[in-house]
Amino acid sequence: MIPGPIEFSPDVMAAMAEPTTSHVAPDFVEIFGESLELMREVFLAPSAQPFILAGSGTLAMDAAVSNLVQAGDRALTVNSGYFSDRMGDILRRYGAEVENVSAPVGDAPTPEAVSDALGAGAFKLVTITHVDTSTGVVADAEGIARVAKDAGCLVILDGVCGTAGAECFTEDWGVDVHLTASQKAIGVPPGLALLTVSPEAMAVFHARTEPVGSYYADFEQWLPIMEAYESRGPAYFGTPAVNLVAALNVSLKNILAEGMEARFARHRRLAAAFRAGIRALGMKIVPVQESLAASTLTAAYYPRGIGPELVPAVAAEGVFTAGGLHPEIKQEYFRIGHMGDVNASDILATLGAIERGLCVRGHDVDAGAGVRAAEEALCRM
Ligand code: PMP
Repeated sequence: MIPGPIEFSPDVMAAMAEPTTSHVAPDFVEIFGESLELMREVFLAPSAQPFILAGSGTLAMDAAVSNLVQAGDRALTVNSGYFSDRMGDILRRYGAEVENVSAPVGDAPTPEAVSDALGAGAFKLVTITHVDTSTGVVADAEGIARVAKDAGCLVILDGVCGTAGAECFTEDWGVDVHLTASQKAIGVPPGLALLTVSPEAMAVFHARTEPVGSYYADFEQWLPIMEAYESRGPAYFGTPAVNLVAALNVSLKNILAEGMEARFARHRRLAAAFRAGIRALGMKIVPVQESLAASTLTAAYYPRGIGPELVPAVAAEGVFTAGGLHPEIKQEYFRIGHMGDVNASDILATLGAIERGLCVRGHDVDAGAGVRAAEEALCRM
């Protein structure tokens, strides 16, 4: 129950174990081409150009920025924590002038704050971290994208900790680049960088006056490859991660079999039940308001008198959680992922393990209170 890599379903793992074919073998061409089509459905971006690249989520960030930014462009980073800082670093690396709209830890900049910051004018793009993995805060991506589009900006959404779990209507919301990685709610082992790019963003890419600063991430290289595979023809620039793409194909089909709205609703329900359990154990979550709490992971402060030693104590009870990440509060909280194929039993088992971990560490815990509160919430929802 860490915020990624998550636990993967047996059919996805079975696809990983299939013999590796050539990347130009007819059956792999079909799998790759179909996966690109399925991405448009999962990302809810029917007009976008999908890209599947071998690399981690950071490569997806690098690809989005390197292809759209030219030296001297102005970018506004809606900063909610650790991974927003990283986006700022990448933007600066490709020559952008970066400004931040920030909020205190556990809070998120509002669309109004973003609108005020954009008022100064002349920004080319706005970047949003949908779910900040360091704080469990979900940004109002819809509201922020709206004000950004009104100001004539491109919108890049880092969905690494949200995509296919946290609600995101990419095209309807005006998100131009929706990027993610395979290892979280997409449900595939680490190693794939996934992006959908709107026609408007592709036009900005095509209008570049300088070559892309990254050789590997350059859409000039990859666009013909994606187009070839989608029209079911073989093509080569860099060898695709054959087994990961086969696993992606299985996972995207599983995701669509559940249905996007149903999947978003399941994540919301389980997350709300988990938070009810955490609160019943006397713990506070990091997001300062319930509406800012993500559906894909929960960040919770340790109860008074307990610190990071809780994480191994919970692990000894059978459930792996993750320690703190945000530098300002690193020692004060821990993180629990609940995305992908999670169900109510996982939520209850995790709360049980947290209760026992607290007991083992000598904390005076009302045994069963967290599990009971979550169960009551699940019965009501
Ligand atoms: N953005 C967010 C929100 C993330 O959570 C992560 C990874 N946890 C990344 C970007 C970077 O992804 P990766 O570790 O796959 O490079």
